[in-house]
Amino acid sequence: MLSIELLIKNGRIITVDNNGTDIESGWIAINDGRILAAGSGKDHEKLYAADKIIDATGKVVFPGLINTHTHLFQTLLKGLGRDKPLIEWLDASVRNALPFYDEETCYYAALVGCLESVHSGTTTVLDFMYANTRPKLTDAVIKAFDTVGVRGIMGRGFTNVAGLPKANFCELIDTVPNFLADTERLLHEYPADQSDMISICLAPGIIWDLNREEFQAVRQFADKYKLPVTMHIVETEDDDAFSLDVNKKRTIEFLDEIGFFGPDVISVHSVYMQSGDIEIFKKHDVKVSYCPTSNMILASGFAPIREFMKEGITVCLASDGAASNDSQDMIETMKNAALLQKVFYRDASVVSAYDVLKMATINGAIALGKEKHLGSIEAGKKADLFIFNPMTAKTMPMNEPVAALVYSAGEENVDTMIINGKVIMENKKILTVDEEAILKEAAAVGARLRKKAGI
Ligand SMILES: [Zn+2]
Repeated sequence: MLSIELLIKNGRIITVDNNGTDIESGWIAINDGRILAAGSGKDHEKLYAADKIIDATGKVVFPGLINTHTHLFQTLLKGLGRDKPLIEWLDASVRNALPFYDEETCYYAALVGCLESVHSGTTTVLDFMYANTRPKLTDAVIKAFDTVGVRGIMGRGFTNVAGLPKANFCELIDTVPNFLADTERLLHEYPADQSDMISICLAPGIIWDLNREEFQAVRQFADKYKLPVTMHIVETEDDDAFSLDVNKKRTIEFLDEIGFFGPDVISVHSVYMQSGDIEIFKKHDVKVSYCPTSNMILASGFAPIREFMKEGITVCLASDGAASNDSQDMIETMKNAALLQKVFYRDASVVSAYDVLKMATINGAIALGKEKHLGSIEAGKKADLFIFNPMTAKTMPMNEPVAALVYSAGEENVDTMIINGKVIMENKKILTVDEEAILKEAAAVGARLRKKAGI
């Protein structure tokens, strides 16, 4: 008998492996942050002595969801600037609040976002942190990942703050050299370790934030340190209007011409794809982070997911920030991801529930370059998974588990959460922090921020 830390038994297991293996009643042996083995029936009884056993009878085990794009600092801005178009929304929320962010506001905003992530089945979050109005605000988000126990990909973001209202209030006027130097600092302060709980990537904001030489500097930096690069690309028509004016080429043509693209690029939104753009993405194996809820709230439009899938482009899923979503709920995101495409193409079969589950798990892992460790329930991978309890009126009877998760479920069905082999939440109770105390403090911190910003 092998001594192990954790065993899950008697659960249905949707592995999302290459063969789509669905184990009717099975077990998962977990030790030292990883899945040691998984199987069906009662084989585990002869093999393992576990410190802790979770009986998942009547429940379903899914790989943890991977949110490939959010801005956790925005979590305190829920509901502000709602029902306004993009630019008016920005002025009514994010732009005015930005200069007033400090470490405390970033930390509490990120804590709330991490808590919601865990409740909705999310084990990994890529945070696109462009609110660098003071030094080291990025570190406050990393601290929140660590406090709650969420696997974090910290996208050190860059936005050109010169155009923002009240920009003079910013203690730090971020520049591209500073952006890259700070990313280098983060790489040294949060070095890669075996747990891989925190890793770093580059997040240049949008086409108008950098010029040709600056984009090329980002590319060289990414090559040097082998980091993913993520950027907002053609969320609205404004990107191409700007790029045609300044760069004399459309956004994606320009970025192609200057050698910016590669398989390490995660293009966020990718709504206004023009003729030839998909071919460029395909040529460089660019990944697409699809943010359906945000695209609907801001009325940005439809990303052409069917065409991306047809061309073999990896599509992953994301909530986007709470300022343009009001939620970090990846279960809701999955449902919206499917429904928006069905309406767009007027074809109910265009994206299936299983396609969407793959987008939210293994495709996210591929986009992050972490598919060897994340995205499915397989021996050797990180033990990042959640246990789904279908026993609610909304999901019962559960005729098909993947359809139940994507179309009928809510966070009330996420019962237990395991990240890096550690039980973060059990029976819907978060074990790592005092959730109620954090929510109350975050409301107070948020109220002070709104008062200072006059929003
Ligand atoms: Zn965004």
